[in-house]
Amino acid sequence: MTLTEQLLARASRREKVAPGDNIWVSVDVLMTHDVCGPGTIGVFKREFGREARVWDANRVVIIPDHYIFSADAKCNRNVDILREFAREQGIRHFYDIIDDPKGLWKFDSVKGPVKRQYGSHYAGVCHTALAERGHTRPGEVLLGTDSHTCMAGAFNQFATGIGNTDAGFVMGTGRLLIKVPETMHFHLVGELQPGVMGKDVILHLIGEIGFDGATYRAMQFDGPGARSLDMDDRMTIANMAIEAGGKNGIFEFDAKTDAFVREAAKRNGAKADFDPVEADPGQKFVFDRTFDLSKIEPTIAKHPDPGQKALAKQCGDIGLQRAYIGSCTGGKTSDFLAFAKIIRGKRVKIDTFGVPATPQVLEDLRSIKWDGKSVWDVMVDAGVQMTENPGCAACLGGPEDTFGRVNQPMNCIATTNRNFPGRMGHKEARVFLASPATVAASALTGRVTDPREYL
Ligand code: SF4
Repeated sequence: MTLTEQLLARASRREKVAPGDNIWVSVDVLMTHDVCGPGTIGVFKREFGREARVWDANRVVIIPDHYIFSADAKCNRNVDILREFAREQGIRHFYDIIDDPKGLWKFDSVKGPVKRQYGSHYAGVCHTALAERGHTRPGEVLLGTDSHTCMAGAFNQFATGIGNTDAGFVMGTGRLLIKVPETMHFHLVGELQPGVMGKDVILHLIGEIGFDGATYRAMQFDGPGARSLDMDDRMTIANMAIEAGGKNGIFEFDAKTDAFVREAAKRNGAKADFDPVEADPGQKFVFDRTFDLSKIEPTIAKHPDPGQKALAKQCGDIGLQRAYIGSCTGGKTSDFLAFAKIIRGKRVKIDTFGVPATPQVLEDLRSIKWDGKSVWDVMVDAGVQMTENPGCAACLGGPEDTFGRVNQPMNCIATTNRNFPGRMGHKEARVFLASPATVAASALTGRVTDPREYL
């Protein structure tokens, strides 16, 4: 069995499963956020009754992160609904934006979207936060009401996005009926060259198979190339499995996974025992190809979908009006470091916005110093508009007052993961997906630029 089949067999207490089997799976963690949480809670209460209790208050993780730092009253209210529910159900892992468990969240328009507005529990973008806070464990099943939940596949677990109706059912039962997907095998060899990142790898792979090339399939990434990648690159790659239509993305477990998970568990006092699945020599794939990481070059996805791959070096004629670094895919500490190395001591030529994925990333940017100057200051001095409020921000547009939102037709290059029309705001804006290094180089020139020009 493939890694995904082994995980699903274990979660359904079966010896064996095969693609196409419909099986009842026990869920280890269910995550929801401010956009889908209220709807999920509504389904749960409607179907299980107003007095119903969630199946396990320690396994439901609630992370407000999407439409947070906005004056929009309906968005603010969504966070209050989550807080009421967490209190009523005794949900242990609710990463509230404010510290008062009985308070109401209200955006402070005087501080605006730039100055810090969150308390001590806030965790930032859900997928990055799940890993940071010790909720991603090898061998487990993690479901979330967000399509990029597949990011946790980096940790050798079955992780996928589900809708509010399914999530409402999981809330009440801890189980879900899942069809076992076929597995596509991406055997990675070689190592990334300077200036090339995990984002280039996944944009290349999606470009090879098309933005629907893995529809309802597992994408398994393994081989010596996969093992050479750090956990952040693996997270970026697994995150975008859904951009090829994938049910999930998954990596093998190794010493890097082990170190990351144990460290996160220790930091957060989270559960540290886990049982990874290992490659089975008899595994069968519906697609099997080898990719040499050393041959991959800085790659972008052109408008209007993540499958429109092109080499950055061949797109210098694409003019840009905005650059954006942030999101679960491209707002991690390592992403900002790659970006800052390129812009250090220079000035960006176009409007450039920076949104750390989590408060931890923000803290890192302030504490990591190069020649006595923090990375945060390197960004600011180069002209990047940085917000102290980590979150999804303009990755998915959001309300009009969202930091970095693309409110007019323009070309924007971003470290985010999705570029369908309207994704970052205006329907006529064109979004180009790229690695943090490519976004940084492009911010300096105002056109799509290969970052190797600045190495
Ligand atoms: S950062 Fe973007 S892709 Fe990630 S969870 Fe938020 S909206 Fe979704």
